Amino acid sequence: MKITANNPNRKSWLPVEKDSDFPIQNIPFGVFLTKDDITTIGTRIGNYAIDLAALQQLGYFEGIPLTEGIFMQDSLNDFIEDGRTVWRLVRNRIADIFDLENQKLKENEAHKDIIIFNIEDIEMLLPVVIGDYTDFYSSKDHATNVGTMFRDPENALLPNWVHIPVGYHGRSSSIVVSGTKIRRPNGQTLPQGASQPVFGPCKLLDFEVEMGFITTDANNLGEPMPIEEARSHIFGMVLLNDWSARDIQKWEYVPLGPFLAKNFASTISAWVVTLDALEPFKVAGPKQDPKPLPYLEEEGLTSYDISIETSIKPKKQDETLVSKTNFKNLYWSISQQLAHQTVNGCNVRTGDLYGSGTISGKDKNSYGSMLELTWKGTQPIKMSDGTERKFINDGDTVIMRGYCKNEEIRIGFGECIGKIKKARKFPIE
Ligand code: CA
Repeated sequence: MKITANNPNRKSWLPVEKDSDFPIQNIPFGVFLTKDDITTIGTRIGNYAIDLAALQQLGYFEGIPLTEGIFMQDSLNDFIEDGRTVWRLVRNRIADIFDLENQKLKENEAHKDIIIFNIEDIEMLLPVVIGDYTDFYSSKDHATNVGTMFRDPENALLPNWVHIPVGYHGRSSSIVVSGTKIRRPNGQTLPQGASQPVFGPCKLLDFEVEMGFITTDANNLGEPMPIEEARSHIFGMVLLNDWSARDIQKWEYVPLGPFLAKNFASTISAWVVTLDALEPFKVAGPKQDPKPLPYLEEEGLTSYDISIETSIKPKKQDETLVSKTNFKNLYWSISQQLAHQTVNGCNVRTGDLYGSGTISGKDKNSYGSMLELTWKGTQPIKMSDGTERKFINDGDTVIMRGYCKNEEIRIGFGECIGKIKKARKFPIE
């Protein structure tokens, strides 16, 4: 089916600012709360949120096989479960309804009142009930940097890394939507030179610049999913800040890997941008040498050109840009990650989230964590307010922004924001 929603020449009758992340070619999906306390599934064009439940109720999706009230929900899960044909039909129809040439809704003031909201008048909610969360480790530069810092610069990349999209199972209960405040975690750490651990607030709080993809049901338990099928089961992508407590991580991760240093919070952006909308921004992935095993072999354009910028905004101060990276820096593709996840028969379900792993590039300013940007705190970053940062301070806000851009259009993810609150006193008062 043709993705007519991607027509770069289409204009909307809703005003869209020139550098908006949300032109009519984007049509992302999210969940929001209106001023009247109604939760609904919606999309966004420019600075307007569009209530899809109201559109359906008023007959604008006629002819599309949708369950009654599919958008009158507090998560996208049921809609995602309907599969790619339905996602495409709905996106194409929304593009048509808001096309400059289409007068039907444009000239119906009563309907517009019910369907369209100013973005300032709504509150974005977590878009998906996330069942399982897998976090990969797919940036070669990141894995090399971390290996150099913590193990051995000569053998920074472990031998399995170029053969396996390395990953681990994370925790979904603490994944929150952009804007949610994050409390600095308490935990056990082993101070430098000490032989006994201490307990207290994390001192080395970090962000990880990642992107995540969200799936629909892909395979039955016990049945691997072929790599050629992977993308048809991926609904869309979000920005992901996988907050990390480096001092807690260093003490606890042996021998089973990440645990409490990683599961106190992960923030995702509120609008899920569909893979369909990202189609014009497909690019070749990096050359893979050695050649992956057959179940991971993939042809064609396997990556996406998505710029990601990360800033730190100290309390009451201007923000400072600290990292500029790109999704195309990743070594393993999303299809390879999903094919690997299922190769042993593990089943992928609707609403699962798969994190890319920290996205670092070759250059120092393209590193995707403070750990790398300040090289374990040895090279602090100068902020525009004159202060320095080795890691993240209380009161700091970390802001990630992601977008794709070509000569014709810009498709963005909006922002992925989290502000750090000071640690809870312990024992809890
Ligand atoms: Ca991570």
